[in-house]
Amino acid sequence: MNALRLASLNGDHLGRTIISAGNVRFGEDFVVIAGPCSVESEEQTLKTAQEVKAAGAHMLRGGAFKPRTSPYDFQGLGLQGLKILEKAKQETGLPIVTEVTDPRDVSWVSEYADVLQIGTRNMQNFSLLKEVGKIDKPVLLKRGMNSTLKEWLNCAEYILAAGNPNVILCERGIRTFETYTRNTLDLSIVPAVKETSHLPIIVDPSHGTGRLSMIEPMSLAAMAAGADGIMVEVHCKPAEAMCDKDQAMSPDMFGGLMKKLHILRSSMSKMNGKAMQGSGASNS
Ligand code: PEP
Ligand code: MN
Repeated sequence: MNALRLASLNGDHLGRTIISAGNVRFGEDFVVIAGPCSVESEEQTLKTAQEVKAAGAHMLRGGAFKPRTSPYDFQGLGLQGLKILEKAKQETGLPIVTEVTDPRDVSWVSEYADVLQIGTRNMQNFSLLKEVGKIDKPVLLKRGMNSTLKEWLNCAEYILAAGNPNVILCERGIRTFETYTRNTLDLSIVPAVKETSHLPIIVDPSHGTGRLSMIEPMSLAAMAAGADGIMVEVHCKPAEAMCDKDQAMSPDMFGGLMKKLHILRSSMSKMNGKAMQGSGASNS
């Protein structure tokens, strides 16, 4: 098998890659992305966006195209959803992360998104990877639920080789024999990525566990493991979420998590000297 040329930590890439999306810098600050699983309505998205912004989130997430296990489940609002996200960005100033599922949609979806997400089910959709390789917006590449580190980094390599150097990795849990959790969140992949690649890596404990009670401890553990950020699902009315209701945090819970992340970050900064984005006067 050919070795990785662009995604690995080697002679050409000894330092860590820093990726900018609006005023957010992945690989430098600890980035918190929060928002609903899917964009359901203008009211739900704007309300959630305002709440996560008030609690200190740095980016807003929300799916307009939802890859669902059943074809009868809510598939997302498509273009209408992207327009709602655009409005939420205008109102809050939060840059947007949203998923793209079809190579034919990449170019126009990238006009709305600050970061394009490739979901776990599409990690090895090579035509999609080549297409996002042609744009200059950052790509959040989720780990395939059955994929090894090597397979994942090779998918990042597809994007880099096609000309887009802005790839952010996202651990979102893998399939194991365990059934208590929705997936098994593999936090050991964080230091594994740090020693093999220069790309930033964030962690998604919402899909990684599927359990509300575990999102806070796994977010703190992700930070302690050296992740460059987290992505969590927050809904203004969790009980009414149309998608992934069991893992939707309330804005209050999210606020509590943010406070703990700041406390942990300041103790960690004594060890490594890094600050959490938003902990300074400019972003608080
Ligand atoms: C999501 O983040 O909305 C999502 C569908 O995640 P995953 O691809 O990890 O299941
Ligand atoms: Mn979800």
